[in-house]
Amino acid sequence: MSGTYETALRARLQDPSLLETRACLAGDWHQTTRRIEVRNPASGDLLAEVADCDRADAAQAIEAARVAQAEWAARSAKERAVLMRGWHDLILSNADDLAVILTAEMGKPLAEARGEILYGASYVEWFAEEAKRVYGDTIPGHQRDKRILVLRQPVGVVAAITPWNFPNAMLARKLAPALAAGCAIVAKPAIETPLSALALVVLAERAGIPHGLVSVLPSSDARAMGQEFCENPTVRKISFTGSTEVGRILMRQGADQIKKLSLELGGNAPFIVFDDADLDAAVEGAIQSKFRNAGQTCVCTNRIYVQSGLHDAFAERLARRVAEMRCGDGMEEGTEIGPLISEAALAKVEAHVEDAQQRGAQLLAGGGRREGWLYAPTVLSEVTSEMRIAREETFGPVAAIFRFVTEKDVVEAANAVEYGLASYVFTRDFARSWRMMEALDYGMVGINTGQISTEVAPFGGIKQSGQGREGSRYGLDDYLEMKYACLSIAPSA
Ligand code: NAP
Repeated sequence: MSGTYETALRARLQDPSLLETRACLAGDWHQTTRRIEVRNPASGDLLAEVADCDRADAAQAIEAARVAQAEWAARSAKERAVLMRGWHDLILSNADDLAVILTAEMGKPLAEARGEILYGASYVEWFAEEAKRVYGDTIPGHQRDKRILVLRQPVGVVAAITPWNFPNAMLARKLAPALAAGCAIVAKPAIETPLSALALVVLAERAGIPHGLVSVLPSSDARAMGQEFCENPTVRKISFTGSTEVGRILMRQGADQIKKLSLELGGNAPFIVFDDADLDAAVEGAIQSKFRNAGQTCVCTNRIYVQSGLHDAFAERLARRVAEMRCGDGMEEGTEIGPLISEAALAKVEAHVEDAQQRGAQLLAGGGRREGWLYAPTVLSEVTSEMRIAREETFGPVAAIFRFVTEKDVVEAANAVEYGLASYVFTRDFARSWRMMEALDYGMVGINTGQISTEVAPFGGIKQSGQGREGSRYGLDDYLEMKYACLSIAPSA
Protein backbone atom coordinates (compact mmCIF):
# COMPACT_ATOMS: atom_id res chain seq x y z
CA MET A 1 0.00 0.00 0.00
CA SER A 2 1.14 3.54 -0.70
CA GLY A 3 -0.52 4.80 2.52
CA THR A 4 2.52 5.03 4.81
CA TYR A 5 4.86 6.68 2.32
CA GLU A 6 2.18 8.96 0.93
CA THR A 7 1.40 10.10 4.46
CA ALA A 8 5.10 10.69 5.12
CA LEU A 9 5.44 12.70 1.91
CA ARG A 10 2.36 14.79 2.73
CA ALA A 11 3.82 15.50 6.16
CA ARG A 12 6.92 17.03 4.51
CA LEU A 13 4.82 19.50 2.54
CA GLN A 14 3.77 22.90 3.82
CA ASP A 15 0.71 22.55 1.58
CA PRO A 16 -0.21 18.83 1.41
CA SER A 17 -3.01 19.57 -1.07
CA LEU A 18 -0.33 19.94 -3.76
CA LEU A 19 0.07 16.18 -3.69
CA GLU A 20 -2.80 15.44 -6.08
CA THR A 21 -3.36 11.86 -7.22
CA ARG A 22 -6.46 12.46 -9.38
CA ALA A 23 -6.24 13.36 -13.04
CA CYS A 24 -7.09 16.89 -14.12
CA LEU A 25 -9.65 16.00 -16.78
CA ALA A 26 -11.80 18.47 -18.65
CA GLY A 27 -12.00 20.90 -15.74
CA ASP A 28 -12.62 18.31 -13.01
CA TRP A 29 -10.46 16.24 -10.71
CA HIS A 30 -11.08 12.69 -11.83
CA GLN A 31 -10.30 9.41 -10.07
CA THR A 32 -10.18 6.02 -11.78
CA THR A 33 -10.55 2.52 -10.38
CA ARG A 34 -7.30 1.42 -11.99
CA ARG A 35 -4.27 3.27 -10.60
CA ILE A 36 -0.65 3.90 -11.51
CA GLU A 37 1.90 3.14 -8.81
CA VAL A 38 4.43 5.93 -8.35
CA ARG A 39 7.64 4.80 -6.66
CA ASN A 40 10.53 6.61 -5.04
CA PRO A 41 13.60 5.68 -7.12
CA ALA A 42 15.91 6.05 -4.11
CA SER A 43 14.13 3.42 -2.03
CA GLY A 44 11.68 1.69 -4.35
CA ASP A 45 8.90 2.58 -1.88
CA LEU A 46 5.41 3.01 -3.25
CA LEU A 47 4.75 6.75 -2.94
CA ALA A 48 1.28 7.19 -4.32
CA GLU A 49 -1.37 5.63 -6.51
CA VAL A 50 -2.45 7.97 -9.27
CA ALA A 51 -5.44 7.95 -11.61
CA ASP A 52 -4.81 5.90 -14.74
CA CYS A 53 -6.56 7.53 -17.71
CA ASP A 54 -7.51 5.82 -20.95
CA ARG A 55 -8.15 6.84 -24.52
CA ALA A 56 -11.80 7.76 -23.84
CA ASP A 57 -10.63 10.15 -21.12
CA ALA A 58 -8.23 11.73 -23.62
CA ALA A 59 -11.09 12.22 -26.09
CA GLN A 60 -13.21 13.85 -23.38
CA ALA A 61 -10.36 16.19 -22.39
CA ILE A 62 -9.78 17.16 -26.02
CA GLU A 63 -13.44 18.06 -26.49
CA ALA A 64 -13.42 20.20 -23.32
CA ALA A 65 -10.21 21.83 -24.55
CA ARG A 66 -11.89 22.72 -27.85
CA VAL A 67 -14.68 24.54 -26.06
CA ALA A 68 -12.39 26.29 -23.55
CA GLN A 69 -9.91 27.32 -26.24
CA ALA A 70 -12.40 29.43 -28.18
CA GLU A 71 -13.18 31.53 -25.11
CA TRP A 72 -9.50 31.77 -24.07
CA ALA A 73 -8.34 32.89 -27.51
CA ALA A 74 -11.02 35.60 -27.51
CA ARG A 75 -9.54 37.20 -24.38
CA SER A 76 -7.03 39.98 -24.76
CA ALA A 77 -3.39 39.00 -24.59
CA LYS A 78 -3.09 41.08 -21.45
CA GLU A 79 -5.87 39.16 -19.69
CA ARG A 80 -4.10 35.90 -20.49
CA ALA A 81 -0.77 37.35 -19.39
CA VAL A 82 -2.13 38.51 -16.02
CA LEU A 83 -3.45 35.03 -15.19
CA MET A 84 -0.20 33.41 -16.27
CA ARG A 85 1.77 35.85 -14.16
CA GLY A 86 -0.35 34.87 -11.15
CA TRP A 87 0.35 31.22 -11.87
CA HIS A 88 4.09 31.95 -12.07
CA ASP A 89 3.97 33.68 -8.67
CA LEU A 90 2.17 30.69 -7.13
CA ILE A 91 4.81 28.32 -8.53
CA LEU A 92 7.53 30.41 -6.90
CA SER A 93 5.78 30.68 -3.56
CA ASN A 94 5.29 26.88 -3.53
CA ALA A 95 8.73 26.05 -4.94
CA ASP A 96 9.93 24.16 -1.85
CA ASP A 97 6.92 21.83 -1.86
CA LEU A 98 7.08 21.30 -5.62
CA ALA A 99 10.77 20.40 -5.25
CA VAL A 100 10.04 17.84 -2.53
CA ILE A 101 7.38 16.18 -4.70
CA LEU A 102 9.77 16.18 -7.65
CA THR A 103 12.66 14.61 -5.73
CA ALA A 104 10.36 12.02 -4.16
CA GLU A 105 9.14 10.70 -7.50
CA MET A 106 12.16 11.36 -9.70
CA GLY A 107 15.18 11.08 -7.41
CA LYS A 108 17.28 14.13 -8.33
CA PRO A 109 18.91 15.99 -5.42
CA LEU A 110 16.57 18.45 -3.72
CA ALA A 111 18.68 21.49 -4.67
CA GLU A 112 18.52 20.45 -8.34
CA ALA A 113 14.78 19.86 -8.04
CA ARG A 114 14.35 23.38 -6.69
CA GLY A 115 16.45 24.66 -9.59
CA GLU A 116 14.16 22.84 -12.00
CA ILE A 117 11.06 24.44 -10.44
CA LEU A 118 12.57 27.92 -10.88
CA TYR A 119 13.64 27.03 -14.42
CA GLY A 120 10.11 25.84 -15.28
CA ALA A 121 8.62 28.98 -13.73
CA SER A 122 10.93 31.16 -15.82
CA TYR A 123 9.15 29.87 -18.96
CA VAL A 124 5.77 30.78 -17.50
CA GLU A 125 7.02 34.27 -16.74
CA TRP A 126 8.69 34.66 -20.13
CA PHE A 127 5.67 33.57 -22.14
CA ALA A 128 3.27 35.61 -19.99
CA GLU A 129 5.33 38.58 -21.17
CA GLU A 130 5.58 37.38 -24.77
CA ALA A 131 1.79 36.87 -25.00
CA LYS A 132 1.52 40.63 -25.48
CA ARG A 133 4.00 40.65 -28.34
CA VAL A 134 2.35 38.33 -30.86
CA TYR A 135 2.69 40.82 -33.68
CA GLY A 136 1.38 40.51 -37.20
CA ASP A 137 2.75 42.29 -40.24
CA THR A 138 1.81 44.49 -43.16
CA ILE A 139 3.44 43.91 -46.52
CA PRO A 140 3.49 46.39 -49.44
CA GLY A 141 0.87 45.19 -51.90
CA HIS A 142 1.89 43.59 -55.20
CA GLN A 143 -0.61 45.72 -57.17
CA ARG A 144 -1.77 49.32 -56.77
CA ASP A 145 -5.10 48.35 -55.25
CA LYS A 146 -3.83 45.54 -53.02
CA ARG A 147 -2.95 45.62 -49.32
CA ILE A 148 -1.43 42.61 -47.56
CA LEU A 149 -1.83 41.77 -43.88
CA VAL A 150 -0.35 38.89 -41.89
CA LEU A 151 -2.13 37.66 -38.75
CA ARG A 152 -0.78 35.17 -36.25
CA GLN A 153 -3.45 33.06 -34.58
CA PRO A 154 -3.37 30.21 -32.03
CA VAL A 155 -3.14 26.72 -33.59
CA GLY A 156 -6.01 25.58 -31.33
CA VAL A 157 -5.95 22.41 -29.23
CA VAL A 158 -2.46 21.10 -28.47
CA ALA A 159 -1.57 17.66 -27.09
CA ALA A 160 1.65 17.30 -25.11
CA ILE A 161 3.65 14.25 -24.04
CA THR A 162 6.50 14.74 -21.57
CA PRO A 163 9.35 12.65 -20.09
CA TRP A 164 10.33 11.87 -16.51
CA ASN A 165 13.74 13.55 -16.38
CA PHE A 166 12.38 17.11 -15.93
CA PRO A 167 8.79 16.39 -14.88
CA ASN A 168 8.04 20.01 -14.05
CA ALA A 169 10.08 22.02 -16.54
CA MET A 170 9.38 19.94 -19.66
CA LEU A 171 5.66 20.42 -19.08
CA ALA A 172 5.98 24.12 -18.16
CA ARG A 173 7.91 24.66 -21.42
CA LYS A 174 4.82 23.48 -23.32
CA LEU A 175 1.97 24.78 -21.17
CA ALA A 176 3.35 28.31 -21.05
CA PRO A 177 3.74 29.08 -24.77
CA ALA A 178 0.51 27.24 -25.58
CA LEU A 179 -1.51 29.32 -23.11
CA ALA A 180 0.24 32.54 -24.07
CA ALA A 181 -0.61 31.96 -27.74
CA GLY A 182 -4.28 31.32 -26.91
CA CYS A 183 -4.23 27.51 -27.23
CA ALA A 184 -5.70 24.83 -24.95
CA ILE A 185 -3.58 21.84 -24.00
CA VAL A 186 -4.08 18.19 -23.02
CA ALA A 187 -0.95 16.61 -21.55
CA LYS A 188 0.20 13.11 -20.71
CA PRO A 189 3.13 13.09 -18.27
CA ALA A 190 5.60 10.20 -18.00
CA ILE A 191 4.32 7.23 -16.04
CA GLU A 192 7.13 7.51 -13.46
CA THR A 193 6.48 11.18 -12.60
CA PRO A 194 2.83 12.28 -12.79
CA LEU A 195 2.79 14.02 -9.37
CA SER A 196 4.88 17.04 -10.42
CA ALA A 197 2.65 17.59 -13.45
CA LEU A 198 -0.51 17.39 -11.37
CA ALA A 199 0.89 19.79 -8.74
CA LEU A 200 1.61 22.28 -11.49
CA VAL A 201 -2.00 22.25 -12.66
CA VAL A 202 -3.33 22.47 -9.09
CA LEU A 203 -1.57 25.85 -9.04
CA ALA A 204 -2.79 26.79 -12.53
CA GLU A 205 -6.34 26.21 -11.35
CA ARG A 206 -5.72 28.33 -8.24
CA ALA A 207 -4.36 31.10 -10.44
CA GLY A 208 -7.64 31.19 -12.32
CA ILE A 209 -6.63 29.46 -15.56
CA PRO A 210 -10.08 28.48 -16.89
CA HIS A 211 -11.48 25.01 -16.33
CA GLY A 212 -11.03 22.61 -19.21
CA LEU A 213 -8.27 24.65 -20.82
CA VAL A 214 -5.56 22.41 -19.38
CA SER A 215 -5.95 18.68 -18.74
CA VAL A 216 -3.22 16.46 -17.31
CA LEU A 217 -3.89 12.77 -17.80
CA PRO A 218 -1.52 10.23 -16.28
CA SER A 219 -1.83 6.92 -18.13
CA SER A 220 -0.27 3.50 -18.20
CA ASP A 221 -1.18 3.21 -21.89
CA ALA A 222 1.09 5.75 -23.58
CA ARG A 223 0.52 4.12 -26.96
CA ALA A 224 -3.26 4.56 -26.85
CA MET A 225 -2.95 8.13 -25.62
CA GLY A 226 -0.52 8.90 -28.42
CA GLN A 227 -2.92 7.38 -30.94
CA GLU A 228 -5.81 9.48 -29.69
CA PHE A 229 -3.67 12.60 -29.88
CA CYS A 230 -2.63 11.77 -33.44
CA GLU A 231 -6.01 10.57 -34.72
CA ASN A 232 -8.39 13.04 -33.07
CA PRO A 233 -8.95 15.80 -35.65
CA THR A 234 -9.57 18.41 -32.94
CA VAL A 235 -5.90 18.17 -31.93
CA ARG A 236 -4.06 20.50 -34.28
CA LYS A 237 -0.60 20.13 -32.86
CA ILE A 238 1.47 17.68 -30.83
CA SER A 239 4.39 18.79 -28.70
CA PHE A 240 6.57 15.91 -27.58
CA THR A 241 9.70 15.69 -25.45
CA GLY A 242 11.28 12.27 -25.13
CA SER A 243 13.23 9.69 -27.08
CA THR A 244 13.92 9.88 -30.80
CA GLU A 245 12.30 6.44 -31.14
CA VAL A 246 8.92 7.64 -29.82
CA GLY A 247 9.30 10.88 -31.78
CA ARG A 248 9.45 8.78 -34.97
CA ILE A 249 6.30 6.88 -33.96
CA LEU A 250 4.39 10.13 -33.41
CA MET A 251 5.61 11.54 -36.70
CA ARG A 252 4.38 8.45 -38.55
CA GLN A 253 1.06 8.41 -36.70
CA GLY A 254 0.55 12.12 -37.23
CA ALA A 255 1.19 11.88 -40.97
CA ASP A 256 -2.41 11.04 -41.95
CA GLN A 257 -3.70 14.32 -40.54
CA ILE A 258 -0.53 16.32 -41.25
CA LYS A 259 -0.31 17.18 -37.55
CA LYS A 260 1.93 20.05 -36.63
CA LEU A 261 4.71 18.55 -34.54
CA SER A 262 7.27 19.94 -32.13
CA LEU A 263 9.80 17.28 -31.21
CA GLU A 264 12.43 17.67 -28.48
CA LEU A 265 14.26 14.37 -28.76
CA GLY A 266 17.43 12.59 -27.69
CA GLY A 267 20.97 13.90 -27.84
CA ASN A 268 24.54 12.65 -27.82
CA ALA A 269 26.39 15.84 -26.92
CA PRO A 270 30.09 16.25 -27.69
CA PHE A 271 32.17 18.27 -25.22
CA ILE A 272 35.38 19.40 -26.89
CA VAL A 273 38.41 20.64 -24.97
CA PHE A 274 41.30 22.17 -26.93
CA ASP A 275 44.88 22.41 -25.68
CA ASP A 276 44.45 26.17 -25.19
CA ALA A 277 41.40 25.80 -22.89
CA ASP A 278 41.27 26.95 -19.28
CA LEU A 279 41.65 23.57 -17.57
CA ASP A 280 39.75 24.44 -14.40
CA ALA A 281 36.85 25.91 -16.35
CA ALA A 282 36.75 22.89 -18.68
CA VAL A 283 36.64 20.42 -15.77
CA GLU A 284 33.89 22.38 -14.03
CA GLY A 285 31.99 22.66 -17.32
CA ALA A 286 32.24 18.90 -17.77
CA ILE A 287 30.96 18.29 -14.24
CA GLN A 288 27.98 20.58 -14.84
CA SER A 289 27.04 19.26 -18.23
CA LYS A 290 27.75 15.59 -17.55
CA PHE A 291 26.62 14.92 -14.00
CA ARG A 292 23.57 17.14 -13.52
CA ASN A 293 20.53 14.97 -12.89
CA ALA A 294 22.90 11.94 -12.67
CA GLY A 295 23.57 12.31 -16.40
CA GLN A 296 19.89 12.04 -17.30
CA THR A 297 19.41 15.19 -19.33
CA CYS A 298 19.01 15.46 -23.08
CA VAL A 299 21.78 18.10 -23.22
CA CYS A 300 24.14 15.99 -21.11
CA THR A 301 27.63 15.60 -22.41
CA ASN A 302 27.98 12.06 -23.72
CA ARG A 303 31.39 12.23 -25.42
CA ILE A 304 34.28 14.28 -24.04
CA TYR A 305 36.96 14.94 -26.69
CA VAL A 306 40.23 16.28 -25.25
CA GLN A 307 43.15 17.39 -27.41
CA SER A 308 46.30 15.36 -26.81
CA GLY A 309 48.31 18.17 -25.14
CA LEU A 310 45.75 18.61 -22.32
CA HIS A 311 44.33 15.09 -22.29
CA ASP A 312 46.15 13.54 -19.33
CA ALA A 313 45.84 16.58 -17.06
CA PHE A 314 42.12 16.92 -17.84
CA ALA A 315 41.42 13.20 -17.29
CA GLU A 316 43.31 13.14 -14.01
CA ARG A 317 41.61 16.31 -12.70
CA LEU A 318 38.13 15.19 -13.75
CA ALA A 319 38.61 11.74 -12.20
CA ARG A 320 39.71 13.31 -8.91
CA ARG A 321 36.68 15.63 -8.83
CA VAL A 322 34.26 12.83 -9.72
CA ALA A 323 35.66 10.44 -7.10
CA GLU A 324 34.74 13.05 -4.46
CA MET A 325 31.09 13.37 -5.57
CA ARG A 326 28.54 12.32 -3.01
CA CYS A 327 25.85 9.98 -4.24
CA GLY A 328 22.77 8.92 -2.34
CA ASP A 329 19.14 9.73 -1.64
CA GLY A 330 18.26 13.06 -3.27
CA MET A 331 16.39 14.13 -0.12
CA GLU A 332 19.61 14.04 1.92
CA GLU A 333 21.57 17.26 2.32
CA GLY A 334 24.77 17.31 0.26
CA THR A 335 23.78 14.63 -2.25
CA GLU A 336 25.18 15.47 -5.69
CA ILE A 337 24.20 12.34 -7.59
CA GLY A 338 20.81 10.73 -7.02
CA PRO A 339 19.55 7.34 -8.20
CA LEU A 340 18.74 6.58 -11.82
CA ILE A 341 15.08 6.45 -12.72
CA SER A 342 14.74 2.66 -13.09
CA GLU A 343 16.40 -0.72 -13.20
CA ALA A 344 16.34 -0.56 -17.02
CA ALA A 345 18.20 2.77 -16.97
CA LEU A 346 20.80 1.30 -14.64
CA ALA A 347 21.21 -1.79 -16.83
CA LYS A 348 21.85 0.40 -19.90
CA VAL A 349 24.56 2.38 -18.10
CA GLU A 350 26.19 -0.84 -16.87
CA ALA A 351 26.10 -2.29 -20.39
CA HIS A 352 27.76 0.82 -21.86
CA VAL A 353 30.57 0.75 -19.28
CA GLU A 354 31.12 -3.00 -19.69
CA ASP A 355 31.20 -2.71 -23.46
CA ALA A 356 33.71 0.16 -23.28
CA GLN A 357 35.98 -1.70 -20.86
CA GLN A 358 35.89 -4.87 -22.96
CA ARG A 359 37.01 -2.81 -25.95
CA GLY A 360 39.93 -1.21 -24.10
CA ALA A 361 38.60 1.81 -22.18
CA GLN A 362 40.34 2.58 -18.86
CA LEU A 363 38.32 3.08 -15.68
CA LEU A 364 39.65 6.19 -13.90
CA ALA A 365 36.90 6.65 -11.29
CA GLY A 366 33.69 5.03 -10.06
CA GLY A 367 32.20 2.16 -12.01
CA GLY A 368 29.45 -0.13 -10.75
CA ARG A 369 26.15 -0.03 -8.93
CA ARG A 370 25.62 1.23 -5.44
CA GLU A 371 22.50 0.57 -3.37
CA GLY A 372 19.12 0.74 -5.12
CA TRP A 373 19.24 2.36 -8.55
CA LEU A 374 22.38 4.37 -7.83
CA TYR A 375 25.29 4.15 -10.24
CA ALA A 376 28.61 5.55 -9.04
CA PRO A 377 29.76 8.61 -10.99
CA THR A 378 32.31 7.22 -13.40
CA VAL A 379 35.15 8.40 -15.63
CA LEU A 380 36.48 6.33 -18.55
CA SER A 381 39.42 7.24 -20.75
CA GLU A 382 40.76 5.82 -24.04
CA VAL A 383 37.21 5.63 -25.34
CA THR A 384 36.88 5.12 -29.10
CA SER A 385 34.22 5.50 -31.76
CA GLU A 386 33.45 1.75 -31.99
CA MET A 387 32.14 1.64 -28.43
CA ARG A 388 28.39 1.81 -27.72
CA ILE A 389 28.92 4.85 -25.51
CA ALA A 390 30.14 6.79 -28.56
CA ARG A 391 27.01 6.13 -30.62
CA GLU A 392 24.16 5.88 -28.10
CA GLU A 393 22.84 8.26 -25.46
CA THR A 394 24.05 6.72 -22.15
CA PHE A 395 21.72 8.76 -19.91
CA GLY A 396 23.77 8.09 -16.81
CA PRO A 397 26.69 9.47 -14.76
CA VAL A 398 29.50 8.21 -16.99
CA ALA A 399 32.10 10.61 -18.45
CA ALA A 400 33.70 9.04 -21.53
CA ILE A 401 36.96 10.68 -22.62
CA PHE A 402 38.23 10.44 -26.20
CA ARG A 403 41.62 11.73 -27.35
CA PHE A 404 41.97 13.87 -30.50
CA VAL A 405 44.76 15.66 -32.37
CA THR A 406 43.39 18.16 -34.92
CA GLU A 407 40.40 20.50 -35.09
CA LYS A 408 39.32 18.93 -38.37
CA ASP A 409 39.30 15.42 -36.84
CA VAL A 410 37.30 16.44 -33.82
CA VAL A 411 34.65 18.24 -35.88
CA GLU A 412 34.25 15.14 -38.01
CA ALA A 413 33.98 12.86 -34.97
CA ALA A 414 31.60 15.19 -33.12
CA ASN A 415 29.24 15.39 -36.10
CA ALA A 416 29.32 11.66 -36.89
CA VAL A 417 26.09 10.82 -35.05
CA GLU A 418 22.44 11.10 -36.04
CA TYR A 419 21.74 13.47 -33.15
CA GLY A 420 22.16 17.26 -33.13
CA LEU A 421 20.97 18.75 -29.85
CA ALA A 422 23.67 20.29 -27.60
CA SER A 423 27.44 20.62 -28.00
CA TYR A 424 30.16 22.27 -25.95
CA VAL A 425 33.58 23.72 -26.81
CA PHE A 426 36.33 24.93 -24.49
CA THR A 427 39.04 27.09 -26.07
CA ARG A 428 40.61 30.51 -25.47
CA ASP A 429 41.12 31.11 -29.18
CA PHE A 430 38.40 33.50 -30.40
CA ALA A 431 38.65 32.54 -34.06
CA ARG A 432 38.42 28.86 -33.19
CA SER A 433 35.31 29.50 -31.05
CA TRP A 434 33.66 31.06 -34.06
CA ARG A 435 34.74 28.31 -36.45
CA MET A 436 33.51 25.61 -34.09
CA MET A 437 30.18 27.36 -33.53
CA GLU A 438 29.62 27.27 -37.29
CA ALA A 439 31.01 23.79 -37.92
CA LEU A 440 29.13 21.81 -35.28
CA ASP A 441 25.89 20.26 -36.57
CA TYR A 442 23.98 20.96 -33.38
CA GLY A 443 21.04 23.18 -32.46
CA MET A 444 22.92 24.58 -29.46
CA VAL A 445 26.60 25.29 -28.84
CA GLY A 446 28.06 26.24 -25.45
CA ILE A 447 31.42 28.01 -25.75
CA ASN A 448 33.41 27.83 -22.51
CA THR A 449 30.28 26.92 -20.56
CA GLY A 450 28.58 23.67 -19.61
CA GLN A 451 25.24 25.31 -18.95
CA ILE A 452 23.17 26.57 -21.85
CA SER A 453 19.52 26.19 -20.86
CA THR A 454 17.56 29.41 -20.31
CA GLU A 455 14.07 30.60 -21.14
CA VAL A 456 15.42 33.53 -23.17
CA ALA A 457 17.18 31.33 -25.78
CA PRO A 458 15.75 28.95 -28.41
CA PHE A 459 16.18 25.43 -27.03
CA GLY A 460 16.03 22.62 -29.57
CA GLY A 461 17.81 20.25 -31.87
CA ILE A 462 18.52 19.49 -35.51
CA LYS A 463 18.94 16.15 -37.35
CA GLN A 464 17.24 13.37 -35.35
CA SER A 465 17.19 15.44 -32.17
CA GLY A 466 13.97 17.02 -33.33
CA GLN A 467 12.28 20.08 -34.72
CA GLY A 468 10.85 23.26 -33.27
CA ARG A 469 12.19 25.43 -30.47
CA GLU A 470 11.16 26.01 -26.86
CA GLY A 471 11.81 29.34 -25.11
CA SER A 472 12.84 32.73 -26.51
CA ARG A 473 10.74 34.85 -28.86
CA TYR A 474 10.89 31.99 -31.38
CA GLY A 475 9.17 29.61 -28.94
CA LEU A 476 5.72 31.06 -29.58
CA ASP A 477 5.95 30.35 -33.32
CA ASP A 478 5.32 26.65 -32.71
CA TYR A 479 1.90 27.48 -31.25
CA LEU A 480 0.80 30.01 -33.85
CA GLU A 481 -0.50 29.76 -37.39
CA MET A 482 0.22 32.48 -39.89
CA LYS A 483 -2.69 33.78 -41.93
CA TYR A 484 -2.31 36.20 -44.81
CA ALA A 485 -5.12 38.42 -46.00
CA CYS A 486 -5.11 40.20 -49.34
CA LEU A 487 -7.36 43.28 -49.43
CA SER A 488 -8.44 44.85 -52.67
CA ILE A 489 -8.95 48.58 -52.11
CA ALA A 490 -11.14 50.23 -54.73
CA PRO A 491 -9.80 53.64 -55.78
CA SER A 492 -11.82 56.58 -54.47
CA ALA A 493 -14.49 57.75 -56.87
P1 NAP B 1 10.35 8.14 -23.91
O1 NAP B 1 10.39 6.69 -23.61
O2 NAP B 1 10.30 8.56 -25.32
O3 NAP B 1 9.09 8.69 -23.10
C1 NAP B 1 8.70 10.04 -23.18
C2 NAP B 1 7.20 10.12 -23.11
O4 NAP B 1 6.64 9.45 -24.23
C3 NAP B 1 6.60 9.47 -21.87
O5 NAP B 1 5.51 10.23 -21.44
C4 NAP B 1 6.14 8.13 -22.41
O6 NAP B 1 5.10 7.54 -21.68
C5 NAP B 1 5.66 8.52 -23.79
N1 NAP B 1 5.56 7.42 -24.74
C6 NAP B 1 6.24 6.25 -24.75
N2 NAP B 1 5.83 5.50 -25.81
C7 NAP B 1 4.88 6.21 -26.47
C8 NAP B 1 4.08 5.98 -27.64
N3 NAP B 1 4.18 4.86 -28.35
N4 NAP B 1 3.21 6.94 -28.01
C9 NAP B 1 3.09 8.08 -27.30
N5 NAP B 1 3.82 8.35 -26.18
C10 NAP B 1 4.71 7.44 -25.79
O7 NAP B 1 11.57 8.92 -23.28
P2 NAP B 1 12.11 8.85 -21.80
O8 NAP B 1 13.01 7.70 -21.65
O9 NAP B 1 11.00 8.98 -20.83
O10 NAP B 1 12.92 10.23 -21.74
C11 NAP B 1 14.24 10.32 -22.01
C12 NAP B 1 14.47 10.80 -23.44
O11 NAP B 1 13.94 12.12 -23.57
C13 NAP B 1 15.94 10.92 -23.78
O12 NAP B 1 16.16 10.45 -25.07
C14 NAP B 1 16.18 12.41 -23.69
O13 NAP B 1 17.29 12.87 -24.44
C15 NAP B 1 14.90 12.96 -24.19
N6 NAP B 1 14.70 14.34 -23.74
C16 NAP B 1 14.81 15.33 -24.69
C17 NAP B 1 14.68 16.66 -24.30
C18 NAP B 1 14.81 17.76 -25.30
O14 NAP B 1 14.43 18.90 -24.97
N7 NAP B 1 15.31 17.52 -26.50
C19 NAP B 1 14.43 16.97 -22.96
C20 NAP B 1 14.33 15.94 -22.03
C21 NAP B 1 14.47 14.62 -22.46
P3 NAP B 1 5.42 6.48 -20.50
O15 NAP B 1 6.15 7.24 -19.49
O16 NAP B 1 4.09 6.04 -20.07
O17 NAP B 1 6.24 5.41 -21.13
